[in-house]
Amino acid sequence: MAMQTSTYRVLSLQSRSSFRKAPSTAIFEFRRRSSDRVLSLLCITYYSTLSSTEFCSSKRRSRGPVMAAKKATEGAKQEDGKYKHTVDLPTTKFGMRANSTVREPEIQKIWDEKQVFKRVAERNSGGSFILHDGPPYANGDLHMGHALNKILKDIINRYKLLQNCKVDYIPGWDCHGLPIELKVLQSLDQDARKGLTPLKLRAKAAKFAKNTVKTQMASFKRYGVWGDWDHPYLTLDPEYEAAQIEVFGQMVFQGYIFRGRKPVHWSPSSRTALAEAELEYPDGHVSKSIYAIFRLVSSPTSGGILDEFLPNLCLAIWTTTPWTIPANAAVAVNAKLEYAVVEVHSPSPDVSNSSADGKKKLGNVFKEREKPFLIIASELVSTLEAKWGVKLVVKKILLGSDLEHCRYTHPVDRRECPVVVGGDYITTESGTGLVHTAPGHGQEDYITGLKYGLPILSPVDDDGKFTEEVGKFSGLDVLGDGNVAVIEYLDENSSIIMVEPYKHKYPYDWRTKKPTIFRATAQWFASVEGFRKAAMDAINQVTWVPSQAENRISAMTSSRSDWCISRQRTWGVPIPVFYHVDTKEPLMNGETIDHIKSIIAQKGSDAWWYMTVEELLPDTYRDKASNYEKGTDTMDVWFDSGSSWAAVLEKRKGLSGPADLYVEGTDQHRGWFQSSLLTSVATKGKAPYSGVITHGFVLDERGLKMSKSLGNVVDPNTVIEGGKNSKEAPSYGADVLRLWVSSVDYTGDVLIGPQVLRQMSDIYRKLRGTLRFLLANLHDWEVDNAIQYNDLPLIDQHALFQLENIVKNIRENYENYQFFKIFQIIQRFVIVDLSNFYFDVAKDRLYVGGTTSFTRRCCQTVLAAHLLSIVRIIAPILPHLAEDVWQHLPFQYTTEDGNAAEFVFESRWPSVNEQWLAFPSEEVDFWGKVLELRTEVNKALEEARTGKLIGSSLEAKVYLQTSDDSLAARLKEMCQAHNDAGALHRIFITSQVEVLSSLENEQIKNIPYGGEYLIQGENKVWIGVSRAEGSKCERCWNFSPQVGSFAEHPSLCSRCFNVVGGEALPALAAVS
Ligand SMILES: [Zn+2]
Repeated sequence: MAMQTSTYRVLSLQSRSSFRKAPSTAIFEFRRRSSDRVLSLLCITYYSTLSSTEFCSSKRRSRGPVMAAKKATEGAKQEDGKYKHTVDLPTTKFGMRANSTVREPEIQKIWDEKQVFKRVAERNSGGSFILHDGPPYANGDLHMGHALNKILKDIINRYKLLQNCKVDYIPGWDCHGLPIELKVLQSLDQDARKGLTPLKLRAKAAKFAKNTVKTQMASFKRYGVWGDWDHPYLTLDPEYEAAQIEVFGQMVFQGYIFRGRKPVHWSPSSRTALAEAELEYPDGHVSKSIYAIFRLVSSPTSGGILDEFLPNLCLAIWTTTPWTIPANAAVAVNAKLEYAVVEVHSPSPDVSNSSADGKKKLGNVFKEREKPFLIIASELVSTLEAKWGVKLVVKKILLGSDLEHCRYTHPVDRRECPVVVGGDYITTESGTGLVHTAPGHGQEDYITGLKYGLPILSPVDDDGKFTEEVGKFSGLDVLGDGNVAVIEYLDENSSIIMVEPYKHKYPYDWRTKKPTIFRATAQWFASVEGFRKAAMDAINQVTWVPSQAENRISAMTSSRSDWCISRQRTWGVPIPVFYHVDTKEPLMNGETIDHIKSIIAQKGSDAWWYMTVEELLPDTYRDKASNYEKGTDTMDVWFDSGSSWAAVLEKRKGLSGPADLYVEGTDQHRGWFQSSLLTSVATKGKAPYSGVITHGFVLDERGLKMSKSLGNVVDPNTVIEGGKNSKEAPSYGADVLRLWVSSVDYTGDVLIGPQVLRQMSDIYRKLRGTLRFLLANLHDWEVDNAIQYNDLPLIDQHALFQLENIVKNIRENYENYQFFKIFQIIQRFVIVDLSNFYFDVAKDRLYVGGTTSFTRRCCQTVLAAHLLSIVRIIAPILPHLAEDVWQHLPFQYTTEDGNAAEFVFESRWPSVNEQWLAFPSEEVDFWGKVLELRTEVNKALEEARTGKLIGSSLEAKVYLQTSDDSLAARLKEMCQAHNDAGALHRIFITSQVEVLSSLENEQIKNIPYGGEYLIQGENKVWIGVSRAEGSKCERCWNFSPQVGSFAEHPSLCSRCFNVVGGEALPALAAVS
């Protein structure tokens, strides 16, 4: 702390300790509440730039003119009232309280009625700026994540408006998909479900989505988000659907769409294929894992190295999905791993049929007299010995590559199957080092299967039941009795070594919360492989914020497999394909797709369900209509939203791609950012965006995920409108919520809760108070009153220099989207530079300097500049506050092009003022010293106050002595300032200041308080405090020997006499 840099020689009898305890007066209420550890931590984060000394308020010192003014207003009874008409009281109708539940909607209504967003966007001439909205899902209420997202976007858009950009922001909604379909289904009773046709279901789903859009839109508007709310984009709009079909058609034309049998995540509970994004991996899933054996029938002809063990040699495998054994097509090994042929010796007697905990269960294999030789990975011999409770004697070692092309008998249907070499996925981390391979039921198996031309077996139906292909298990549920039946069958046939429960991450359906399976079905795919390189190149061209996001999307795009785009659901855009009734051959080409597109553009995608094949086919195919039937698959909703660049940016008037910016949560790297990238790269060869910003999730104050069960959900509407209990959940208004959005570093997860909000509300109030101070002291201001820059006293030029720097700095941070830095800069500026210093000092000349005096006009010139700049630089974050201020401006503001700015967003960003920035650097240094000196003087005054020498700082005279001659000379000069505003005693808010030549002065003995201080760690300054000379001026409360010298106004000082008396007395005015 700064205090430790000063040494204080106590000359009085006052105790040292009392000085050390100089209070750092809290400005914000929350500082007093900071007993809570979390809160104090947050304070440190937010206010690390402010030391406690800087926070030190000077309320007590500055009481003079303020109190005088206040007392004067209290009426004629008061003695002080005599000069009340000569005091310039701050005046404004702009309220101290925001009253945001009333005022914000009022302001929004004015914006709406006057079409301010549209007007400003159209009038702006600085080029277009397109932030393309990622569509929230039209399902349920909005949460804090939505608020964070939309407000971030609005801050950016509003900043760009001030920067003279033509901002076009079209909000969107994602309206199709399973969750809405399920909501509709859940709302129906048994009978209604029976009578449900696809068209009825789609009508209900559309109604549901549209209603949700309405509610969500009202909330977004209440956040103060500006956009083209009258023309949003909905993925269920016919023109949108048609554009989506067009994108699909282009991908078909490019050869990127194919139909294949491929294992996909399949949810038996909702009878559909699922995307990665529709899966979740809950804790605690336990599978029945088995160690099983497959009997070898031959070893490769080339080697014959295993012949000595035949026919009693088996491959040992391990699987967590025994139900996939019927679909087994191979056993895969790792070519580079070492494998061992082991002989099994009887289980030790203590290993019984089942383990002590009853969980492990040994199979029949080891119970038979003649035990088979087993092949397992060498590294796993001892692990498996322990697990199986047997002795394994290694008979031979060989490499995985030696095993390739061995053949074994399938344990269920006795087919001969090969041993193959798989990929690096085969390790010795678990299992046996040999992998049961069922290409119809696993991704890696599928790829290995392609390599060896293995059959893609998948004898499981839509409900997750075995089909007739596996006669004996037919009809059994693979996740239930089917799994058990397979294990039993294998054991009866002496193929099971052990059954063991196995806890692991297993994919569940995110909606039904039931386990899924991998299952090969006929699906439509977009071949990512076909344009992966182009996609990777496109990623490279995009600006990612934060920059690490590029790595994330690169990794996800480079590793992703082909995109399964078909869904077996009703509520979506149809895949526009016909199948031949007999051959099942698909019919889909440019002509058919174009025809369907034009139908959907007019009638919407319902047409696919209500129109006949004949109608849906183009003329050339119409006579063959009876040979075809419609496909029933719909498109993955990620294809819907992933086509928004085509449906919105390429179709809406005045828009074009690529968008300047996409802004979404970090989960969209695998969602919308990626699906949009893929469709755009596949059809256009480039990304649909030039910049992407990602933000984190919103957590509660303790960093926990919000959930109803934890009761820690912060609802954005409650924040704005208040909750049932107005003490616990006051109505903060949209601006406080927006201030919070600006305060967080959104590149990571962000925290919110009651304490954070209280804190934001306090800061909001401080900001509002600052703006109110500015408005109120400019009540009589006219632009013509402005004083030329060169005539301003240095203190005012310095203030303009600081302001200009702040504006510049904040602009840079808007440009870099670092809003939390803006939040910190503004806060510091308002508290430290303005409230604690400039305003504090300014009050004297504003209130009692004389209405039209040069000194007051100088100050008002500075205040007007501050008001006009601050209101605009905060406007993107706090638009309601800024507009409220703007509507209370006591003067008209005219833009550079000569138009009056009726609304704050018509005023544009403050233009750069080079003259203000050119304040000489040596003066900047000097004022830095003066401010620090002021801080030290305040400490000395505090000591004198504690010692009851003075009350108000105006009762004091300050003495300074420094051996730094140039500093001393400069300070002396300031004591006799040409302009009263820059006088040192005004800056210290004392009545007098005297600079002493040396400390070897008789005078010093009469100064009751004094000590040495360090300024900027180098200049030693001695500071003394005594009672001020003379008497107290009735009007301004300054002490002066001149009080009593004016016959007509015996209670006034010379300054006030000059202001009030009208007739200047030059001889006296010079002494002050
Ligand atoms: Zn006075």
